[in-house]
Amino acid sequence: MKSPTLFSDRIISWYDLHGRKQLPWQHNKTPYKVWISEIMLQQTQVATVIPYFEKFMSRFPDIDALASAEQDEVLHHWTGLGYYARARNLHKASQQIVEQHNGIFPVDFDDVLALPGIGRSTAGAILSLSLGLNHSILDGNVKRVLARHGAIEGWPGKKPVEDKLWQLTQQLTPSVDIQKYNQAMMDIGATVCTRSKPNCPVCPVAIDCRGQLTGRQLDYPGKKPKKVIPEKSAWLLVLELDNSVHLHKRPPSGIWGGLWCFAQFSTKAELDEHLSNQAYDISHQQELIGFRHTFSHFHLDIQPVLVSINKISDNQIMEQDSTVWYNLPHPPKVGLASATERILASLGSVLNKE
Ligand code: SF4
Repeated sequence: MKSPTLFSDRIISWYDLHGRKQLPWQHNKTPYKVWISEIMLQQTQVATVIPYFEKFMSRFPDIDALASAEQDEVLHHWTGLGYYARARNLHKASQQIVEQHNGIFPVDFDDVLALPGIGRSTAGAILSLSLGLNHSILDGNVKRVLARHGAIEGWPGKKPVEDKLWQLTQQLTPSVDIQKYNQAMMDIGATVCTRSKPNCPVCPVAIDCRGQLTGRQLDYPGKKPKKVIPEKSAWLLVLELDNSVHLHKRPPSGIWGGLWCFAQFSTKAELDEHLSNQAYDISHQQELIGFRHTFSHFHLDIQPVLVSINKISDNQIMEQDSTVWYNLPHPPKVGLASATERILASLGSVLNKE
């Protein structure tokens, strides 16, 4: 038998032998399932995504179910996956599909691209993987494989480099077997041509990979220029009463938008002033273990302070839409900021010791 020589032939033959075919979103494929999986897989590994995907699909089995849910419940199902804008966009996009496409996922590329949170590569992945439509993809994994194979210099965040990679992916994408080819490219990026340890001896395109032939695999793709990001600090008030803690809903935009978090203060003095203004009946006060949370544009050094109180009086905290007493033994289903989650996880041992 003649050995395959075309780049895409080699990729597809590799897929037949080694590609991933049993992922939950690969059974009875629909654009909806592939869409949810693609969004979850952005910045998150397959193994982490699988249980979230299964839970999400059992609660929101179709577009209508997602569109009619409360945003809080959608965020709740996202708690732990991070990058919550993805969940907010999924929710918004499902409502747009109901309003503009009668609840049916669009098949026109531009209509898909017009949905919130869906870029060019994700639109291509959804339409090609679920319906076999001929669109190229260029996610992080594919960028890495192509940048190494073609020895494309420069950081793909720069437009000219990205344009070059798009050109390359379009040239190499075959007109048949698009589902296998695109899936294989993502799989090779995730399992063979990995970020720090490319396994070139088992790679189907090693023979003409310029990165491998020159021993410079790890130089591609070019790194993002480093920038120093500022450091800020936050004091979080973990106000506790009878095994419930008081949470506030963050405004829809900004960090942890729409998620539930502890009251935040810039300094210890501000927090102390708040406590004395409220004149709480405090039974216990303690600084919990602090930690750093890094956002894309700054580091936030977080210092949680547990303040247990005996009772609440009418002129202190009222129940409002934007606050909740979060019962620790019976937690309500709300979307939690990752810092909130981390503090909640540490509370059990602290409160039991009191
Ligand atoms: S040969 Fe190595 S560097 Fe080149 S694409 Fe394959 S795994 Fe990546």
